[in-house]
Amino acid sequence: MKVHIVPSSVGDSNRHQILATYVINDSVAIDAGVLGLLSPLDAQRRVRHVFLSHSHLDHVATLPIFIDNVYMYGPDCPSVWGNPQVLETLQRDIFNDRLWPDMIRLSGEESPFLQLNTLSAEQPVEVEGLRITPIELKHVVPAFGFLVEEIATSVAVMFVSDTGPSERVWEIANQISGLRGIFLEASFPNSMRWLADKAAHLTPQLFREELTKLKRSIPVHVIHIKLAFENPTLNELRDLQLSNVQIAEPGTTLEFN
Ligand SMILES: [Zn+2]
Ligand SMILES: [Zn+2]
Repeated sequence: MKVHIVPSSVGDSNRHQILATYVINDSVAIDAGVLGLLSPLDAQRRVRHVFLSHSHLDHVATLPIFIDNVYMYGPDCPSVWGNPQVLETLQRDIFNDRLWPDMIRLSGEESPFLQLNTLSAEQPVEVEGLRITPIELKHVVPAFGFLVEEIATSVAVMFVSDTGPSERVWEIANQISGLRGIFLEASFPNSMRWLADKAAHLTPQLFREELTKLKRSIPVHVIHIKLAFENPTLNELRDLQLSNVQIAEPGTTLEFN
């Protein structure tokens, strides 16, 4: 299984992850923070399914741009998957004719722009040779992590963001024998623990505590480091000296097998 971490900063360095999007096997996206800026356009056209973790802007910001970019007259359109709260937010706050044309309503009229599909916790869906299981996280709005299993190979990866400390995702991680990688957030430095608690995110210290719930050694890729505190957070993550942990680099493609 191939996971591309879509870069989301403009300029010399791809290092910063400002918006979240991961493209799996070229055809399925987790989150759409930066999906609508992916180049070349054909790379966007190949993405047929978008799974949204939650409704925050760094995860949905360019969804309307993506839908606009890949539109083709005809019966086919991308599928957008999310919990009921995400889908309601898309309708009410984004595709409302004020912020962006109501492509949801227009999809029922002639040639569809997008199809919305509701996800339920721990009810897997199968698309593009992948089985994707949403798992409830602990965030300020309802949020899903995703277990993504490649059906042909049983190789699996997990996306755990955005979240404060949680339990269920680790119970499941401990049960999946094909699990080969975990993308886990670490948003704020330890000094900003008060904000991490309020915003339901992890600090490096909380990140380490989460990993004690994982009973196997699996490579962990750090994601969702807030740009305002990038250097202290990176330093504290390095100070953890965890051999199975590396910082996920935007712009790279990771192979899991
Ligand atoms: Zn969030
Ligand atoms: Zn976020």
